[in-house]
Amino acid sequence: MTTPHWIFGDQLGPHFLTPTGEGGPGRGAPVVMIEARSVLRRRRLHRAKAHLVLSAMRHRAAELGRRVTYVRAETYREGLRRTVGGAPVTVCHPTSYAALRLVRSLPQVRVLPARGFLVTREEFAGWAEGRGGRLLQEDFYRWVRREHDLLMEGGHPAGGRLSHDHANREPPPRGARSLDVPGPYRPREDDIDAEVRDDLDRWEREDGVRFVGRDGPRRFPATRREALSALRRFVDHRLAFFGPYEDAVLIGDPVMSHSLLSSSLNLGLLHPVECVERAERAWREGTVPVNSAEGFVRQVAGWREYVWQLYWHFGEDYRHGNTLGHTEQLPEYFAELDADAVTARCLATVLAQVRDTGWTHHIPRLMVLGSHALQRGWDPAAVTDWFHRCFVDGHDWVMVPNVVGMSQYADGGRMTTKPYTSGGAYLHRMSDLCDGCAYRPTERTGPRACPYTAGYWAFLHRHRRLLSGNARMRRAVKGLDRLGDLDEVLRQERRRAGKAP
Ligand SMILES: Cc1cc2nc3c(=O)[nH]c(=O)nc-3n(C[C@H](O)[C@H](O)[C@H](O)COP(=O)(O)OP(=O)(O)OC[C@H]3O[C@@H](n4cnc5c(N)ncnc54)[C@H](O)[C@@H]3O)c2cc1C
Repeated sequence: MTTPHWIFGDQLGPHFLTPTGEGGPGRGAPVVMIEARSVLRRRRLHRAKAHLVLSAMRHRAAELGRRVTYVRAETYREGLRRTVGGAPVTVCHPTSYAALRLVRSLPQVRVLPARGFLVTREEFAGWAEGRGGRLLQEDFYRWVRREHDLLMEGGHPAGGRLSHDHANREPPPRGARSLDVPGPYRPREDDIDAEVRDDLDRWEREDGVRFVGRDGPRRFPATRREALSALRRFVDHRLAFFGPYEDAVLIGDPVMSHSLLSSSLNLGLLHPVECVERAERAWREGTVPVNSAEGFVRQVAGWREYVWQLYWHFGEDYRHGNTLGHTEQLPEYFAELDADAVTARCLATVLAQVRDTGWTHHIPRLMVLGSHALQRGWDPAAVTDWFHRCFVDGHDWVMVPNVVGMSQYADGGRMTTKPYTSGGAYLHRMSDLCDGCAYRPTERTGPRACPYTAGYWAFLHRHRRLLSGNARMRRAVKGLDRLGDLDEVLRQERRRAGKAP
């Protein structure tokens, strides 16, 4: 009898069951899936995230039919005991340190190499070797493009250059309330979703499980078929606009031309190779411009792969980084996604998007949510936990580098060359979030002082010594000397600390 193969809830695509010559999973191997309730008890997840993950697991079990043994247990350990007893089982390398520790502690479990990424750990180690610790995303991305022959023509980059970033930083079209593109794919709920919703309601009522955020129709794919439809719709109708407006934000158009594919990729419903190959094909067929294809390939083959590799490369202690010594706890309005308590239009808008959908695009994550947390000196571990719980695409491997490294600079610059934060002027340029706001991005003191503008100066002042040693921050830090009202800014920001802006 073939050894059973255990799949986690983020290993749901067919590529996690493809037989290989390396000893498993065997062709047609029985599959084990465990729905562990302790995961929901341990962390207060966004309701939409809990729904999506359970729905995707149960849909996968329904597809696998008699091939799968699906158990609902309190813990993985208990679930495994109930399914295979002490018999051998294989599993693909899980995606978090905690899960890896667990599978390695179980004597009957044989761990196979990780799947679902373009670059292997060994290939990354080879790339990283001899770089003297300078593991820049841009260098990694260029290497991946060449190594995997992505968007290349006869050894040369498509469109004559590896980076089209210069064409991909447009503010939103003047006066537009939304991008003029067809909407994204939206799935239709079915009986499995109804059953998940009933279970979540019951667990909340009777079993002490608590969620954050609002319930609502499922917005993200739960099956391979839905994920492929979402990918097709994105590439055929929306990718062409992705490049220029990938950093732009409009209140009336939260999705803009983003793909909404992160949860499908992270649940393993899609493989990154098929995503980048489709984008490349669209460019070759002339249906999307090179800068849009390149922008998307950069996100998937560059950023996503880079973040996955850094999670393992930097080791488990990386998550405890706190170079800036930030210790403030998250205020209640933020922890509870209480957008109505917030006056600043940017933060209220984005917090409401997270509350209602468990998703917002990259710039609101980085320059509204993350930047606010950084400026206010919130504990990076608490910020990471918040992002992990509140986003439908949040998984340990992807949250830790994105929050600890990219967003909170808690690793002291191992991942990014400078902290990502700005005054209100950046948000004003790249969005319509400041229109009609009670605050003014140009004002740093007084009742209309923008919390981002004033918060930026207070942040620079607080970390003046450390940041003046950073070549990319030196000019900004010097700007502090030109502020005649710095003392007033600092007093004001101390008064506003902990309050909803
Ligand atoms: C503070 C912070 C937290 C984040 N947390 C997550 C997270 O938990 N899960 C997650 O998948 N992404 C995370 N990101 C990265 C990025 O914001 C999301 O991947 C993206 O917004 C998802 O929407 P999309 O699928 O429409 O992406 P698109 O803009 O359409 O991009 C295409 C794909 O590129 C990949 N991608 C792009 N940037 C990154 C990145 N920095 N890290 C990993 N993948 C990337 C995603 O798979 C995404 O689906 C985070 C970014 C920040 C700044």
